[in-house]
Amino acid sequence: MPAEFPDFRLGSVLATSFTGTLSERHGNAVERIPTPQRLVDWLAVNGLAVDSCTTAQLDLARELRESIHATATAAATQDALPASAVHVINDRSTQGRATAVLTPEGERQWRLSSASRVEDALGVIAADAISIIAGERDGKLALCASPTCRAAFFDTSRSRTRRWCDMNTCGNREKKARFNANQRKNAGSAE
Ligand SMILES: [Zn+2]
Repeated sequence: MPAEFPDFRLGSVLATSFTGTLSERHGNAVERIPTPQRLVDWLAVNGLAVDSCTTAQLDLARELRESIHATATAAATQDALPASAVHVINDRSTQGRATAVLTPEGERQWRLSSASRVEDALGVIAADAISIIAGERDGKLALCASPTCRAAFFDTSRSRTRRWCDMNTCGNREKKARFNANQRKNAGSAE
């Protein structure tokens, strides 16, 4: 039996959902695509189904992921974009050969040039990263307020004041920590 793998964190922005496959980068990091098959699974959930993935393709994916993370972090903090990371994003974007098609229901679908072209799927993710880093889409790149996370996320809230990459994980943990701290304080003042 295969071991249990960590769940995926799903979001509405492809590029930052992808960088979220490694979480807690500044704490006990959780690798959510530890094997080529888990990358296949992640791509399927995100509308980029491939039928196989090699170890080399997984390496390409992780290199792209960390390059997007580094570049998005620099963009969020208004630092100069790291040249080598930008180079990786551009390479993946250039080498992808996926095409967008419109379904009869009016939805966009990605068609890969072949079912084993993980590179095509990575090209779609790289292009998505470029569109948010370049400010082409409505929203703002920001970093998660959790000190062990610091994930780059794309804030599309109206006020642009979102603090956490994910309300269900980092946001909740912070709320719980604050609640416990208050409980302790209250218990202390009752003595
Ligand atoms: Zn977070």
